[in-house]
Amino acid sequence: MKQRANKVVAVANQKGGVGKTTTSVNLAACLADSGCTVLLVDIDPQGNASSGLGVHRDEVTRSSYHVLNNEVAVHEAVIATQHERLFLLPATTDLAGAEIELVDHPDREFQLRRALQASELDVDFIILDCPPSLGLLTVNALVAASTVLLPVQTEYYALEGMGQLLHTVNLVHQHLNPELQIEGILLTMYDGRTNLSEQVADEVTTHFGNLVFETVIPRNVRLSEAPSHGKSIIAYDDASRGARRYRAFAREFLDRNQKIA
Ligand code: ADP
Ligand code: MG
Repeated sequence: MKQRANKVVAVANQKGGVGKTTTSVNLAACLADSGCTVLLVDIDPQGNASSGLGVHRDEVTRSSYHVLNNEVAVHEAVIATQHERLFLLPATTDLAGAEIELVDHPDREFQLRRALQASELDVDFIILDCPPSLGLLTVNALVAASTVLLPVQTEYYALEGMGQLLHTVNLVHQHLNPELQIEGILLTMYDGRTNLSEQVADEVTTHFGNLVFETVIPRNVRLSEAPSHGKSIIAYDDASRGARRYRAFAREFLDRNQKIA
């Protein structure tokens, strides 16, 4: 099931707690499980994608920070994970400094792109788990990406902040990365027991039409437990609703990509 080689997907939203990391880790794990080779890049100084796959910052000596600083090549910092075909470029708290250190660099927005291109990785997908801001780390991800995937929490203020986010995506598209496209919008933490979730989902769909993935991720306690065990949802509890929905999402994602490829 060979996809377009090296498709880079940035998972971004400047709001915290909307499901970026949960989506990055579980999409990456589900894609790997269905036969794709995947590199997950943690570019959030909080390192939740790394710890969520059981990698603790004290074990990490080479990280996305060293890659952005051009101290090591991507393939020198990448590590294997509990999933076959899923590799991780981990993050450490050093990365918080990168945002400031990069400011004076003449090509500050292009460091991740440069590093990924220089490594010529033989993978199908590269997933970038972004921090909760629109700062230089997220801009580096958008510049390196072919597409951006926007998780939106199905709650009252869902659309708040989307304008600013899409404006940033547009600016990057116009000035830094003309190839950047929107992969789609994923509704997360949907609570089927409330009318509110349904109303919000309708509103987002009215606004964004078929950019919105048909698969919706429900609020599911197993999804929130898995990271503390250092496991993806399919490794932690493959029978859970969360696992089934992320598997369905990965299938929809692949279907859309096959249509384009
Ligand atoms: P972000 O990366 O956007 O900050 P996370 O993916 O870390 O967001 O999610 C925020 C919190 O919500 C985490 O504790 C996570 O485990 C939990 N969470 C994410 N998605 C779900 C879900 N569908 N159901 C229940 N809890 C979730
Ligand atoms: Mg996160």
